[in-house]
Amino acid sequence: MIQMANITKAFGKHEVLKGINLTVKKGEVVCILGPSGSGKTTLLRCINYLEKPNQGEVSIGDFTINCKRPSKQDIHTLRKKTAMVFQHYNLFKHKTVLENVMEGLVIVQKQSKDIARQTSIQMLEKVGLGSKLDAYPSQLSGGQQQRVGIARALALNPEVILFDEPTSALDPELVGEVLEVIQKIAKEGITMIVVTHEMGFAREVSNHVVFMDQGVIVEEGRPQDIFSDAKEERTRQFLKRIT
Ligand code: ADP
Repeated sequence: MIQMANITKAFGKHEVLKGINLTVKKGEVVCILGPSGSGKTTLLRCINYLEKPNQGEVSIGDFTINCKRPSKQDIHTLRKKTAMVFQHYNLFKHKTVLENVMEGLVIVQKQSKDIARQTSIQMLEKVGLGSKLDAYPSQLSGGQQQRVGIARALALNPEVILFDEPTSALDPELVGEVLEVIQKIAKEGITMIVVTHEMGFAREVSNHVVFMDQGVIVEEGRPQDIFSDAKEERTRQFLKRIT
């Protein structure tokens, strides 16, 4: 479903991704774990070209983009297959909750307002915000704002949703409601890649865990194997520190 082949990325002289190979199957929930600065967010952003890799290939379904010479159309095609949930929600402050979710459907996908409204309301109901359609982001808690971000991603009906530390900006008491929503949509079989520090979530919800350090994938496997029987010392040390 998603394949990254030999992806490298440097910022100036700093090589942040050093030849990443990653395969994600359809319907899988993959959690990417690792210390701060190990390249997790950069890897996620390379999947939809928010960061341009220096080298390598990204495939989603039967569409492959070669990172050396992608056309604008290639990048557009790739982006349409993905949706992203950001750490800081990235909502439009001057638009209502409903307008935030409708925006991508009307502007990017060129849907009619009526259809876009219907889909958006359904998705907002799914994340428990059916009563907040006309609220503005500033009137919502961080957890609610992030659930709007998730509804917006779902509404796009992407082939994969990319979550970039979706709970790390939240007060601790709001983390649970957001993780519950992610868990609920995971059960629907949507392919998801989640950069997270929430080990409980990774253990319980993901099908596959990837541990990164210093720009490489050190180890990957089923959560039950990684959490109880990691093969690599670096993984064991990290998990010991964080759990
Ligand atoms: P993680 O998500 O694992 O914390 P990141 O992918 O955010 O790691 O960052 C990996 C490294 O790349 C860090 O050293 C970070 O400072 C650097 N980096 C990330 N984005 C940029 C950028 N736009 N310009 C320069 N350096 C960056």
